[in-house]
Amino acid sequence: MKLVLDLLNNDQRRMTMPVRHPEKQANSDTPVLRKPEWIRVKAPGSPAYMETRKIVREHGLVTVCEEAGCPNIGECWEKKHATFMIMGEICTRACAFCNVRTGLPQPLDPLEPQHTAETVRKLGLLHVVITSVDRDDLDDGGAAHFAAVIHAIRALNPTTTIEILTPDFLRKPGALEVVVAAKPDVFNHNLETVPGKYPTVRPGARYFHSLRLLQRVKELDASIFTKSGLMVGLGETRTEILQVMDDLRVADVDFLTIGQYLQPTRKHHEVVAFITPDEFKSYEVIANAKGFALVSASPLTRSSHHAGDDFARLKRARAGA
Ligand code: SF4
Repeated sequence: MKLVLDLLNNDQRRMTMPVRHPEKQANSDTPVLRKPEWIRVKAPGSPAYMETRKIVREHGLVTVCEEAGCPNIGECWEKKHATFMIMGEICTRACAFCNVRTGLPQPLDPLEPQHTAETVRKLGLLHVVITSVDRDDLDDGGAAHFAAVIHAIRALNPTTTIEILTPDFLRKPGALEVVVAAKPDVFNHNLETVPGKYPTVRPGARYFHSLRLLQRVKELDASIFTKSGLMVGLGETRTEILQVMDDLRVADVDFLTIGQYLQPTRKHHEVVAFITPDEFKSYEVIANAKGFALVSASPLTRSSHHAGDDFARLKRARAGA
């Protein structure tokens, strides 16, 4: 059976698809810098990658690996590491760096916690990372749904450790407490950039709210590892990055990730600079000296990259091994 879409050429198809980022359409095109050789990655497509893709599709799940156009997808999916994005694929914020679709989201899927737990079992994951879109439209920002997903994964996969990468739950009193009570093993919330860049990069968010969120997790449950990530190359200065490191240490954050910002489309924030591998190394050395239990800083570092291995390293660091 042929569908109408099958009969259209690529240009016509594009015109029939809803615009991915309606709020960015009026932006002028930003210049695109040529990627340096240290950013290049292999195109995905190995049999193990295809198998992961099939399992994700069969369960109707959304992954941030695909939605964000992550450059590591070939490597991660080959090892069956996927980061699941819950609560739909439409985000209520409109960050200038992010490729996730924006607009008015669909109602929550009550079967999503169970489907996510089943997929974790099918992939045989020892450590799973769950993230979500922002759901400012929900009274609790989706906190109860996050908790339901954690409980469902744990019920079906009792030995799998769970890492969550959450929105900021801005103006959602009580939401954070609900998520923390579900006891994820790692609580990640990315600051993304330095405070001076928030108005242009993350206009819907507040730097000190995000920082306080991380600090509050530790106050509520000191056994949970906390983690945060930064993108560099957005025009920030080195001094600003070092200040953010200090802020994160004051908030008692355990694990810092730093990676190169890559521009999803010409309507997104421009890449102001490609930070060299040596500069990343220097950030890593400084962050370690500031007292983080773990630091990962490289051009292709992403919050969920090698998350399982990093979790094992975090546990060893806490145990003083
Ligand atoms: S780094 Fe994270 S988002 Fe990117 S492909 Fe790997 S698991 Fe997915």
